Amino acid sequence: MRNVREVEGVPRKIPQRTCLGCQAVKPKREMIRITRTPDGAVVVDPTGKKAGRGAYVCPSIECLEMAKKHKRFERALGVVPPPSVFEELRRQIEAMNESAETRR
Ligand SMILES: [Zn+2]
Repeated sequence: MRNVREVEGVPRKIPQRTCLGCQAVKPKREMIRITRTPDGAVVVDPTGKKAGRGAYVCPSIECLEMAKKHKRFERALGVVPPPSVFEELRRQIEAMNESAETRR
Protein backbone atom coordinates (compact mmCIF):
# COMPACT_ATOMS: atom_id res chain seq x y z
CA MET A 1 0.00 0.00 0.00
CA ARG A 2 1.27 3.40 -0.89
CA ASN A 3 0.46 6.70 0.52
CA VAL A 4 1.24 9.06 -2.28
CA ARG A 5 0.98 12.69 -1.47
CA GLU A 6 0.65 15.14 -4.25
CA VAL A 7 3.35 17.57 -3.47
CA GLU A 8 4.66 17.81 -6.97
CA GLY A 9 3.07 20.33 -9.23
CA VAL A 10 2.83 22.86 -6.45
CA PRO A 11 4.17 26.08 -7.90
CA ARG A 12 7.22 27.61 -6.32
CA LYS A 13 5.99 29.93 -3.70
CA ILE A 14 7.37 32.95 -2.04
CA PRO A 15 7.49 32.31 1.69
CA GLN A 16 4.44 33.84 3.29
CA ARG A 17 4.04 34.91 6.86
CA THR A 18 1.15 36.06 8.99
CA CYS A 19 1.20 39.49 10.56
CA LEU A 20 0.80 39.40 14.33
CA GLY A 21 -1.26 42.56 14.13
CA CYS A 22 -3.80 42.44 11.30
CA GLN A 23 -3.30 38.70 10.58
CA ALA A 24 -2.73 39.39 6.90
CA VAL A 25 -0.57 36.88 5.07
CA LYS A 26 2.17 38.53 3.06
CA PRO A 27 5.50 37.75 1.48
CA LYS A 28 8.09 37.44 4.18
CA ARG A 29 10.34 40.10 2.74
CA GLU A 30 7.62 42.72 2.95
CA MET A 31 7.39 42.25 6.67
CA ILE A 32 9.50 42.97 9.69
CA ARG A 33 10.84 40.01 11.57
CA ILE A 34 11.34 39.86 15.29
CA THR A 35 13.50 37.03 16.48
CA ARG A 36 13.99 35.32 19.76
CA THR A 37 17.60 34.31 19.64
CA PRO A 38 18.75 30.96 21.06
CA ASP A 39 19.99 32.74 24.19
CA GLY A 40 16.53 34.14 24.85
CA ALA A 41 16.98 37.74 23.75
CA VAL A 42 14.36 39.37 21.54
CA VAL A 43 15.73 41.40 18.66
CA VAL A 44 14.43 43.16 15.58
CA ASP A 45 15.80 41.33 12.60
CA PRO A 46 15.56 43.42 9.42
CA THR A 47 17.54 40.90 7.39
CA GLY A 48 15.32 38.00 8.48
CA LYS A 49 18.33 35.77 8.75
CA LYS A 50 19.00 35.45 12.41
CA ALA A 51 18.66 32.07 14.01
CA GLY A 52 15.78 31.60 16.38
CA ARG A 53 12.07 31.73 16.60
CA GLY A 54 10.58 34.44 14.46
CA ALA A 55 7.46 36.56 14.49
CA TYR A 56 6.34 38.95 11.79
CA VAL A 57 4.45 42.22 11.50
CA CYS A 58 3.62 44.47 8.57
CA PRO A 59 5.65 47.66 8.44
CA SER A 60 2.75 49.51 10.00
CA ILE A 61 2.46 51.19 13.39
CA GLU A 62 -1.14 50.02 13.60
CA CYS A 63 -0.12 46.40 13.27
CA LEU A 64 2.61 46.86 15.81
CA GLU A 65 0.19 48.41 18.29
CA MET A 66 -2.38 45.72 17.69
CA ALA A 67 0.12 42.93 18.16
CA LYS A 68 1.40 44.61 21.29
CA LYS A 69 -2.07 45.16 22.72
CA HIS A 70 -3.11 41.57 22.22
CA LYS A 71 0.19 40.27 23.52
CA ARG A 72 0.81 38.35 20.36
CA PHE A 73 4.56 38.76 20.56
CA GLU A 74 4.55 36.96 23.86
CA ARG A 75 2.54 34.15 22.38
CA ALA A 76 4.57 33.86 19.19
CA LEU A 77 7.96 34.14 20.81
CA GLY A 78 7.32 32.64 24.19
CA VAL A 79 8.86 35.61 25.98
CA VAL A 80 7.85 39.18 26.75
CA PRO A 81 9.78 41.52 24.49
CA PRO A 82 11.47 44.40 26.34
CA PRO A 83 10.20 47.93 25.63
CA SER A 84 13.39 48.65 23.70
CA VAL A 85 12.29 46.11 21.09
CA PHE A 86 9.06 47.99 20.51
CA GLU A 87 10.98 51.24 20.19
CA GLU A 88 13.32 49.65 17.69
CA LEU A 89 10.37 48.24 15.75
CA ARG A 90 8.70 51.60 15.65
CA ARG A 91 11.86 53.17 14.30
CA GLN A 92 12.16 50.48 11.65
CA ILE A 93 8.56 50.93 10.58
CA GLU A 94 8.89 54.68 10.39
CA ALA A 95 12.07 54.39 8.35
CA MET A 96 10.43 51.95 5.97
CA ASN A 97 7.41 54.16 5.52
CA GLU A 98 9.54 57.17 4.85
CA SER A 99 11.49 55.47 2.12
CA ALA A 100 8.30 54.05 0.62
CA GLU A 101 6.63 57.41 0.30
CA THR A 102 7.80 59.43 -2.63
CA ARG A 103 8.06 62.94 -1.41
CA ARG A 104 8.88 65.92 -3.50
ZN1 LIG B 1 -0.40 43.71 9.63
